Amino acid sequence: MKNYHLINNGKAMSTLDSFKVFNPSTSELIAEAPKATLDELNTIIQSARDTFPQWSSLAYSERQNYINKIADVLEQNSEEIATIITKEQGKPIGATLGSMFEIGGAVAWTRYTATLEMPVKILQDDENGRVELHRRPLGVVASITPWNWPVLIAIWHIIPALLSGNTVVCKPSPYTPLSTLRMIELMNSVLPKGVINSVTGGDELGAALSNHSDINKIVFTGSTATGKKVMSSAADTLKHLTLELGGNDAGIVLPDCDPEAIAPGLFWGAFINNGQTCAAMKRLYVHRSIYDQVCESLTNFAKNIKVGDGFEEGAELGPVQNKMQFDIVNRLVTQSVEQGGKVLLGGPLDNPKDLFFPITLVAIEDNQNPLVQNEQFGPALPIIPYDTVEEAIAMANDNDAGLGGSVWSTDKAKASSVAARMECGSVWINKHGAVQPNSPFGGTKSSGLGVEFGEEGLLANTNIQCILS
Ligand code: NAD
Repeated sequence: MKNYHLINNGKAMSTLDSFKVFNPSTSELIAEAPKATLDELNTIIQSARDTFPQWSSLAYSERQNYINKIADVLEQNSEEIATIITKEQGKPIGATLGSMFEIGGAVAWTRYTATLEMPVKILQDDENGRVELHRRPLGVVASITPWNWPVLIAIWHIIPALLSGNTVVCKPSPYTPLSTLRMIELMNSVLPKGVINSVTGGDELGAALSNHSDINKIVFTGSTATGKKVMSSAADTLKHLTLELGGNDAGIVLPDCDPEAIAPGLFWGAFINNGQTCAAMKRLYVHRSIYDQVCESLTNFAKNIKVGDGFEEGAELGPVQNKMQFDIVNRLVTQSVEQGGKVLLGGPLDNPKDLFFPITLVAIEDNQNPLVQNEQFGPALPIIPYDTVEEAIAMANDNDAGLGGSVWSTDKAKASSVAARMECGSVWINKHGAVQPNSPFGGTKSSGLGVEFGEEGLLANTNIQCILS
């Protein structure tokens, strides 16, 4: 079994205590991960703090070079990292949207972010004076990540924070700490010591980071319930926050669609990473005139998708990552059927023996059904008919979440007018969840605060300083 270490100030750091990490496909123990104490956490934060003056005073172009070196080292080691992701997260290694895709996305994101510039803005320059708007780094940024896309989401946090001159402490989910630990180790082979550090352990470390006086910003991706706790404990020290929280994205299919043509896009929009994706489609609204055909096309497409161990040839989807999430999915599907839902494929399990949940499609009339109103974060999609577009928009917006949404139509202008009325941060047309590094991404309502990606995401790691002369 490989040994995993924390990285503090460029060096491996061992801890006395450890916790077990399991493969969700086989339930086998993969490794023991270091369990840091609060004292060890303080030491790690101090390293990041001590390194900040030196890292922040480098020329921006020097940091851009370092970010490109990160992309190189991750790319050179992508198979090793993808293997760890598949072992601890479960997503298939070779699938179209599997762990090689995740590490490929992380490399591409890193390279793209390195191209972003942060020029000084001249707001005034005339006989009355000159005003320059500068962007200054915040200090130490703490990244707290979930277990669904452990490497890609950490990259979304780390790269813009480093590029803009901050030093970083990363705390991955206790379910999937290993790929992050290895990634931070690799980053340290090309970065000055202390710039990027890792800490693993239980949820209490996240809470300690949120109210630590030496952390200047928390970038948090996870559930809405935990995000609220982070926000409240960050209040004392007035931390900057980016909160990427839960989603319950709606897709709206307009009556002009060809059901067979859109079935693959609808399926992958909902079932990417087995539905364990913040911006996956989690509710599908279909015009009644083509409802039966869409249900049938989607069911036919879904029947041919192979679910299995991530190292099995041809597996496109893996298990649910952990028992807690598995039970949420099974409970919501069970309740949906008890409250009138009709199973088209898959369905609830009476005596589950492992973490493999069948791909499930449920036809539902009532928008208040639990599988519609709650985030399932797993492989189960409710499909709801509507009669008028007004009704579809009202049902889509009748939810606390507001992360993403999609509209499906052959008429782009009509789709755009529906998109404009959806209460969410990103709306895709004829696709769903296709995040990209140049398009700022974030939630409205209970789905979060602030955005990541692009210039706006980069600037979220800075303070404004104006120099007036
Ligand atoms: P979670 O909230 O349980 O955990 C997320 C992280 O927070 C973990 O690292 C955990 O250890 C840490 N944590 C737990 N308690 C904490 C506390 N009190 N203070 C600080 N940190 C604490 O979420 P999860 O189950 O790992 O992830 C699933 C959720 O994440 C889903 O709701 C999903 O929609 C959401 N998500 C959102 C996005 C997005 O971009 N909006 C992306 C991915 C996942």
